[in-house]
Amino acid sequence: MLEPVAVPSALECLRCSRRYPVVAMPGGCQTCSAEGTPSNVRPVYSRAPSLKPGKLSGAGMIRYAGQLPVPRDRLVSLGEGGTPLISVPSLGREFGLRRMMIKDERLNPTGSWRDRYASLAVSSVAIEHEEAGVTVACAGDEALCVSVAAYAARAGLRSVSLVDGGLAENGSRVIDAIEGVGGRAVGVSGSDARWALLADAERDPAAATVVDIQALTVTRKDRTIRAGLPKSVQEAFLSGDWDATGQLLSAGAETQAVAARLPYVRGF
Ligand SMILES: [Zn+2]
Repeated sequence: MLEPVAVPSALECLRCSRRYPVVAMPGGCQTCSAEGTPSNVRPVYSRAPSLKPGKLSGAGMIRYAGQLPVPRDRLVSLGEGGTPLISVPSLGREFGLRRMMIKDERLNPTGSWRDRYASLAVSSVAIEHEEAGVTVACAGDEALCVSVAAYAARAGLRSVSLVDGGLAENGSRVIDAIEGVGGRAVGVSGSDARWALLADAERDPAAATVVDIQALTVTRKDRTIRAGLPKSVQEAFLSGDWDATGQLLSAGAETQAVAARLPYVRGF
């Protein structure tokens, strides 16, 4: 039996509420973009399949597969959703509330509610581009980049995250989390610059993007923005010295002699 799938009837701008037909809108609402205030669009469902108690199966988000725009067997999942509701009476009292509950979204696979979004978004991309090798790119906040990279990896897709230039320069757990699942992280300074770069790469994938490692800039067409790279990586690029272990091995005798003089190196 074919799984009932929720199909949106329109897309609506979160900011100006203008409605659009259901087509891919990576740049969000065109009117708001033209006014210099980019805004995302959300799907509007005129008729979503209703949930039938007793018919729900599975745990977390997949339990509601009938209301999602992706068939159950195509949902790219890491077990997101199903996070607990925790009663917090003392915090509730501070707000003057008789009863207060917090939904602990930290218990999602990458520690963020964005996993629900990334699961659906990456599923849609994987279905739409089944044959072509496609790269999923993200210029959102750090948690979103971590989540999108994890779900892209799950789907077997490449991913590129444009993150804050400072993060990339100093290295961070965010970069580790993205690269740990095989994603690429590129540091670009300024949220506006990140989004503009990503939108242009999407519109015109054939145009060259030039990364100047020395000056740490990214130039695409006539636009140049500041980029970030960990200092050690920048130096490795500029000096050509990549392989520290290889260098130690190629200077074997010298390495042995130095190691013998160092009291904390044993059995080298
Ligand atoms: Zn708008």
